Amino acid sequence: MCTGKYGDVPRMPVFPPGKGPEVFKGTVMHSLDYCKLSEEETVELMRGKKVVVVGYKKSAIDLANECAQANQGEGGQACTMLVRTLHWVVPSYSIWGLPFSMFYSTRLSQLFYERPRVSKFIESYLSWKLPLGKYGLTPDHPFVEDYASCQMAILPEGFFDMADRGLVRFKRASTGWCFSENGVVLDDGTKVEADLVFLATGFEGKEKLREVLPKPFRDLVVGKSSMMPLYRGTIHPLIPNMAFVGFVESVSNLHTSELRCRWLSGLLEGRFELPSVKAMMGHVAGEADAMRRTTRFYRRHCISTYSIHDSDGMCADLGSATLRKANWIAELFAPYNNKDYKEQ
Ligand SMILES: Cc1cc2nc3c(=O)[nH]c(=O)nc-3n(C[C@H](O)[C@H](O)[C@H](O)COP(=O)(O)OP(=O)(O)OC[C@H]3O[C@@H](n4cnc5c(N)ncnc54)[C@H](O)[C@@H]3O)c2cc1C
Repeated sequence: MCTGKYGDVPRMPVFPPGKGPEVFKGTVMHSLDYCKLSEEETVELMRGKKVVVVGYKKSAIDLANECAQANQGEGGQACTMLVRTLHWVVPSYSIWGLPFSMFYSTRLSQLFYERPRVSKFIESYLSWKLPLGKYGLTPDHPFVEDYASCQMAILPEGFFDMADRGLVRFKRASTGWCFSENGVVLDDGTKVEADLVFLATGFEGKEKLREVLPKPFRDLVVGKSSMMPLYRGTIHPLIPNMAFVGFVESVSNLHTSELRCRWLSGLLEGRFELPSVKAMMGHVAGEADAMRRTTRFYRRHCISTYSIHDSDGMCADLGSATLRKANWIAELFAPYNNKDYKEQ
């Protein structure tokens, strides 16, 4: 099953009767439909309009940025982001002049990921570099929790310049919001007028999967931990003759999926055998516990903090080398990335 976690089925917020999009006079669009428009169509749609973007992850931030770009100059309107949960955002892959990959992608760094100092070091840079305090956007949780749940968004260039010029505004909607005739109303009573509301609220990848699975397996998609229990991120121990690729996230989803495809062909070629169902369940439960220890957002099933360990397991199964650097110094200090996993 490679039906994808993003796309196809939009996650739509649910409202009590009389408080949903049916009462709003303007247009409501999910980011999924926005992506289908050409650049000219998006500019035409947003130019001179009061826009609200619901969400504060990658799609929402990109969307607000494009909206601000389209509204520069005379007649331009501000775009308001409705932020429910704050997340750490990152301007580039450099922290205090050091490459980001040094912090979580070397073997040495894997020994430290549960220690708060690395996270604090990165947070100190982000709070200095970005006007998070000025806009009330400093998260309460440590940076590592966003990294470990693949929720760290890389900012488009000049994003906060747009905010400084008044083209992007931020409103916290921690407890909730609803539609009104002329826009949206936050739970604290704040009204935000809008012509256009974009829902950058994500996708229902697991729902999509449930719909295509044979009936007896539908309730197995989400396990006790609320994560999809996948051995090596691929095999559901209780669903026979089926494998899943593309449901585990990391800092590089494509690399993570590719490695799983290779592992899967190794399994089909008979290069190794699966452990017993009990052993696979134990393995999956151990991973879920580790995820829960690392981040409150563990349900997202992201392996970014464990990626080297995760790849080691698959390489070992395939009978290929787990240590892939030229010498032990590089092995300890050089970041691992997709180039290290060339077919041997
Ligand atoms: C805003 C955004 C930014 C991203 N940035 C990055 C990034 O920087 N780096 C990165 O590595 N990844 C990134 N990703 C994630 C990356 O796009 C996905 O991980 C990747 O596309 C997943 O590929 P996939 O083949 O698993 O799924 P998809 O690309 O979603 O493909 C699934 C396919 O299955 C089809 N399908 C679905 N249901 C059915 C069905 N019932 N029957 C038949 N066919 C079906 C769909 O039509 C689709 O063609 C980003 C995603 C988003 C949304």
